[in-house]
Parts: sequence; C-alpha cells; structure tokens
Amino acid sequence: MEKRLASYDPSNGELLGEVEITSTAQIGEMVERARAAGKEWQKFSFDERVAQLEKAYAQLEPHLDEMAVLLSKEMGKDIRRATGEVNGTVYGGSHMARTAMAALQSVDLGSGTHVEYKPLGVAAVISPWNYPLAMANNLIVPALVAGNAVVFKPSEETPLIAKAFVEHLNQVLPQDLLQIVYGDGEQGKALVEGDVNIIAFTGSQATGKQIMASAADQLKRLVMELGGNDPMIVMQDANLESAARFAVGCSFENAGQMCIATERIYVDERVADKFEQRVVELASAYQVGPWDMPGVNIGPIINAKQHGKIVEHIRDAETKGARFLLGGSQQEEPYINPTVIADMTPDMLMEQNETFGPVVSISRYSDIDEAIRRANDSTYGLGAVVYGSKGVDIVAEQLEAGMIGINQGVGGGGDAPWVGAKQSGFGFHGSPEGHRQFAQVRVVSR
Ligand code: NAD
Repeated sequence: MEKRLASYDPSNGELLGEVEITSTAQIGEMVERARAAGKEWQKFSFDERVAQLEKAYAQLEPHLDEMAVLLSKEMGKDIRRATGEVNGTVYGGSHMARTAMAALQSVDLGSGTHVEYKPLGVAAVISPWNYPLAMANNLIVPALVAGNAVVFKPSEETPLIAKAFVEHLNQVLPQDLLQIVYGDGEQGKALVEGDVNIIAFTGSQATGKQIMASAADQLKRLVMELGGNDPMIVMQDANLESAARFAVGCSFENAGQMCIATERIYVDERVADKFEQRVVELASAYQVGPWDMPGVNIGPIINAKQHGKIVEHIRDAETKGARFLLGGSQQEEPYINPTVIADMTPDMLMEQNETFGPVVSISRYSDIDEAIRRANDSTYGLGAVVYGSKGVDIVAEQLEAGMIGINQGVGGGGDAPWVGAKQSGFGFHGSPEGHRQFAQVRVVSR
C-alpha cells in the first residue's frame, strides 16, 4: 500500500499537503536511471551544463513569491527571511554554477601533466529542514556542474518546498538527471546504501556518523556539513554594543535553528554586567509568532521533539543554578520565547550540546585562557567568534573551528568555503576547493 508523508505548518498544525513516500525498490530504480542520465550529461561541455542550469534557475524566477510563502508555511520562518532564502537560492544558484565551472577546469602542470576534474557518477544529496532550499542548493549545484546526476532526499519536515524547487528546475534539466526521494531517515539510509558514488550531506552530527558507517563498505565519497555548538568570546576591550547586537542576532536567527547560531558566550567578568544588560534589552524587542504576523522575527520551532529538546536544555540549566535574565523554562509549544541565561557552567547541556533554539547562554570568565579552553572543549568545531581589540587575533588563532569571526560573524564573503572542524564535518562546499569535492581528481601524463 502506498504510504504518504504529510507536511504541516508548525505554527498551527494545518495540513499543507502530502507526498508519496518513495519505496526502497523505487530508490534503486531512480539511482539506476540517474546513472544513465548522468552518462549523457557528462557528454556536455561545462559551458553547456552551466547554460542549462542558468535556464533552469530562470524558470524559478516567476515563482519567487509563492515559493517564499510555501517555505514560510512549511518551515515557520518569517516571510522576510524566507524571501531572502528563495532569492539567494535562485540567483545564487546560477552564480555558484559559474564559480564551480571555473574551479573544475583542468590544470596544466607542465611537462605533459594535467590535473582533471571528472564526474564521480551519482550523487546522493541529503538535506535538513532549517534552510531547506539553501542547504540543498549548495550541494546540488556543484554536483551537477561536475557532471554528476543527483538523487536528492530533502528533510521529511519540508518535502513540499523541495518538490516545488525540483519540479521547476526539471522543466529544463534533462529527464532523470535530478530526482527526488521523499521520506525520513529510512529512505535516506536506503539511498546512501544504494549504488551512489558520493554522499553530500548536511544535517546533524549523529546522522553524519550513521552515514559514514553506511558509506564505509564501498568507501563512498563524503561531503559532511554537520552541526555546531558555536562559542563566542567577548573580551574586556570589545565594542560591547556591537558584541551584544551580534550575540542576540546570531542566537535568535531562524529561531536559533541555525548551524552557526551563537550557542555559548564567554564574557570578561569586568564588562559582564554591562554586556548582559544590553543583551537583555535587545532580546526583549524580539517578537514571537507565525510567519505572517507583522514584525515577527522568531517563528515556531519545527516540531515537538525539537521543542522538547530546547526546553530540556533550559530546565537542565535551571536545575544547575543558571540565572534567567529573560524567559525561562515555561515555554508553550510551538514557540520558545526569547531566553537569556547567565552563569552557564560546563556541566550544563547548553554548554555541551547543540541546543538549536532562541536562547542566549552566557558565562563570565576571569582568565582568557580558561575562556579559550571552554570554547574549544567540544566535539563540535563549526564556527567560533571573538569580539575584542588588543590581542584579539591571538585569541582567534587559538579557536578550534572551521570558520572564525573576528568582531563579526563567521562565513565571510565571496566564494568562501563553508567548512567545519572536528566533528562538525569534513569535505565541504563553497570555494574552488569545495566545488572540487564533487569531482574525481585525475592526473593525466602524456
Ligand atoms: P538530521 O540529521 O536529523 O536530518 C538531516 C537529513 O538526514 C534528513 O533529510 C533526514 O531524513 C536524513 N537522515 C536521517 N537519518 C538518516 C540516515 N541514517 N541515513 C541517511 N539520511 C538520514 O538533521 P536535521 O534535524 O534535519 O537538521 C538539523 C541539523 O543540521 C543540525 O545539527 C544543524 O546544525 C545541521 N546543519 C548543519 C549545516 C552546516 O552547514 N554545517 C547547515 C544546516 C544544518
């Protein structure tokens, strides 16, 4: 019997639509068809592939507004942010295709030796729900430009926006080159265990480990963009206004459901009172509500499980002696009111694990080396930020993360790599090096 995957508006539980869950047998057939389509796609020059992708992205342009509304409804982010994500995906997609093409040109090393970047075959792209278009796009584009076919499994929380995205692109792209699998971890597992050559994954550390185990037998190529528990250090001579603005903005962005959200703040005790006070003032101005409520900037939490996890972290902090400067452990589904916690200690879940909610957690330090030690005492290493003046570069140098922000957020501009350290991932997208993760490197000597 056909099984359906339902998608709901997280703010009110309204049923938005359903898709058919893809069976394991169907996944096998899709991968086979993708391989055949990929063989034809590989015959195209880079210029032809990019031209087709640009044409495909142009198909999306008349649908930007309706896609932003669907994204808001399905995932819960406010319409301004959803519009930004849709526009970034569509216009950024074409730009990314061009930068990937430039990165994948063969290189003449002299003496008759060339380095070439060839297709790997079929790429399994598996994405999360928090940025359902952007995260998928970052993996699909370089995979296709490199000459691979893609079988894409979006999150079970956001199948409808993924469906709309793929259907518009497929008005132009060759048949079977980009296919979509619907379902949860079971379908994801079936896909990664199928006859695919590279698994490009964005999601949690726990799922990343399962995928890596599944990929081991055939040494499938991996791109792993995993979770974070990003620290921020605020030094005594930091611009406290900028630091407080960044801290609140980055902790609450996307209702805190962001891999590079600021999750742990270590502030010099000499400026802590002032910093905390400003954080509370700024945090108090945030509006919680559904995506279409005027002025809203913290939407609902994606599901009951994630809501429960955030509340568990807040309660754990409460029982371990944290001070609540704003908000608290009484939180009604599906929202988390802006919460500011002081006196975070290393034994708290907040400090140890990714919380993924609109919570600012602060701890005071008297010794900068201790602050650095705590910032680094994590299996995660996605981003890390430091605000300060004298010696700020020395502190930044010691932070263990793939992306460092000095008096600003992480990630940089231009075609920078999006890269984690430690168990926040390896293999990455963005930048020439990132685009080349989606290709087989071949050295040809003649
Ligand atoms: P998740 O790991 O639960 O799920 C991600 C995807 O993997 C979903 O499509 C899911 O169905 C699929 N999946 C689950 N089990 C699988 C399995 N065994 N094999 C194959 N696929 C499987 O993550 P989530 O809750 O959707 O997303 C939130 C997480 O993603 C957070 O940890 C966040 O930090 C991380 N994230 C990281 C980045 C980054 O760039 N590093 C960006 C966005 C989100």
